[in-house]
Amino acid sequence: MEKRNLEARSPDDLRCPIVVIMGHVDTGKTKLLDKIRKTNVQEGEAGGITQQIGATYFEKKTLETQTARLNATEKVELKVPGMLVIDTPGHESFTNLRSRGSSLCDVAILVVDLMHGLEQQTIESLTMLRKRGVPFVVALNKVDRCYGWKTAKDTPIREALKGQDEGTLMEFRSRATDAKVQLQEQGVNSNLYWEMGDDDWSNSDFIPLVPTSAVTGEGVQDVLLLLCQMAQKKLEEKLMWHANLQCTVLEVKAIDGLGMTVDVLVVNGHLKEGDKAVFCTLDGPIVTEIRGLLTPPPSREMRIKSEYIHHKSVKGALGVKVIGNNLDKVMAGTPVMVVGPDDEEEDIKAEVMSDLTKLKGKLSTEKAGVLVQASTLGALEALLQFLREDTKPPIPVSAIGIGTIHKRDITKISIMNEKGHPEYATVLAFDVDVEREAREYAQEMNVRIMTADIIYHLFDQFTRFMDELKQRRQEEAAAVAVFPSIIKILPQHIFNQKDPIIVGVEVVEGILKLGTPLCVPALGGLHVGKVTSIESNGREQQSARKGSSVAVRIVNEGNPNITYGRQFDASNMLYSTLTRASIDALKENFKDALENEDWRLVVKLKKVFNII
Ligand code: GDP
Repeated sequence: MEKRNLEARSPDDLRCPIVVIMGHVDTGKTKLLDKIRKTNVQEGEAGGITQQIGATYFEKKTLETQTARLNATEKVELKVPGMLVIDTPGHESFTNLRSRGSSLCDVAILVVDLMHGLEQQTIESLTMLRKRGVPFVVALNKVDRCYGWKTAKDTPIREALKGQDEGTLMEFRSRATDAKVQLQEQGVNSNLYWEMGDDDWSNSDFIPLVPTSAVTGEGVQDVLLLLCQMAQKKLEEKLMWHANLQCTVLEVKAIDGLGMTVDVLVVNGHLKEGDKAVFCTLDGPIVTEIRGLLTPPPSREMRIKSEYIHHKSVKGALGVKVIGNNLDKVMAGTPVMVVGPDDEEEDIKAEVMSDLTKLKGKLSTEKAGVLVQASTLGALEALLQFLREDTKPPIPVSAIGIGTIHKRDITKISIMNEKGHPEYATVLAFDVDVEREAREYAQEMNVRIMTADIIYHLFDQFTRFMDELKQRRQEEAAAVAVFPSIIKILPQHIFNQKDPIIVGVEVVEGILKLGTPLCVPALGGLHVGKVTSIESNGREQQSARKGSSVAVRIVNEGNPNITYGRQFDASNMLYSTLTRASIDALKENFKDALENEDWRLVVKLKKVFNII
């Protein structure tokens, strides 16, 4: 690790801010990135192909050209040396990434569809950005959809608005006001950025709104300039470049001819060929020499395999591909550090592992629980926190993992079946791939894999599964479980004396349920039969509570000759026949269905039936 060198930092030497684009699906995130990039990723993208992590770097010169028309009047001096825009818009895993405690992304664009207003994921992104203290602008996108919009290609937004008819402007204003009100409902003050007063600008909670069209380009330069301004004003301290290496793993990937490579984001400091680097894996730290550092040409995706540029040394902020040995178990979202001449390797190793160690420490020592697998350490953290704190009841977790799900992960969690917790023989997989072999093995081993790209979808799936399981178990247990009751026959309501017995009864204590076997303890436990129907005022019921009078039909399959008035009559109370097994089934599956006095009745009946 290079020596702390913070005093050498200066506002004249800023690093590129790292920008992410967030928002609900279909608001235009990809299109906007595309427009900013002036390439055409979105249209070239075939259905089903998911985007992967990468970044686009914008040189200062490019930013200046792109914002020239607006800046002719705004006259903002660009101090940032460029901008690094993350290529996976709306990617929850990325936005969760943190580096040394603070968010890895510096500024964000939250895209809202002007026609739809705030949507579920918009609100989630909003919450996350505020929690992480990331400054952002809201792009009110698809402004060109306002009725009668006259295209003013790639112009600053105020200029474009000037050219619109009054009717179009009215619609625009009304929709912008709706968005403002909706943001207000989320506790966020906002305004069209050119209508913000000086007070608003100095209020860090005040959010600038920028109308944009990702298709025709109105307002796009406003977004870019605002991001630069915000970064310069609010993040000067954070953006002052320093020589301490700050570097985070974005993705681990096999590349033909290069083996396993690691895409990293160097935020600060230098990374050099030949550096002795330390990476974090679930099995502990690994130390390896950096054999190569590759970048694609400027303003091209990091992903395009050909045309890599080889570097001897790179300086943050920059996305770069690292080549080296033993990189296959490296985890996305973890830090990379370098052992310098004065460093203790053991200290560096401990530091590289510290986030994971902390996370493992927080993992409750539950013996029974699901396996949680996520794409990055940050995403895993967010997911675990969600499962622990925001789900009711909390979902217990017994194991964690990062990256693609392999057969060995299935083996690990299938143990839950043997331990008598089949419900936890479940993998909650957040934004990761599942090997085909692992999927097949999971079927064989009765392990469920639930996958999702959005945290709350995973929670929904698991909760739904647990509800179904509970219901199924109750149905199974219903055959064994017997609800406690004592009933009195009403002698004036004898409808049929035998096969089946149909009589009016009053429930004196407890709950009489369909299927309950009834007996007369006073007559040596005489088995009267099972309740096959309960009727009140001509309507079939599942059960009848204490105090109610109902007509019941009782069938005794083993002894159809049992007759009211012969072996028993209205002077005998009928009791639910309880056994040890029936009480256990009741406790396990119907705890909430019984009230305290019903449980007291169970205790009373235990004595009647001599159950220990
Ligand atoms: P994402 O899911 O947020 O990345 O959304 P996309 O960028 O894929 O856009 C969703 C759809 O909205 C696509 O059909 C885009 O062409 C369209 N779209 C995106 N931005 C605009 C815009 O500013 N104006 C109009 N008219 N359509 C847009």
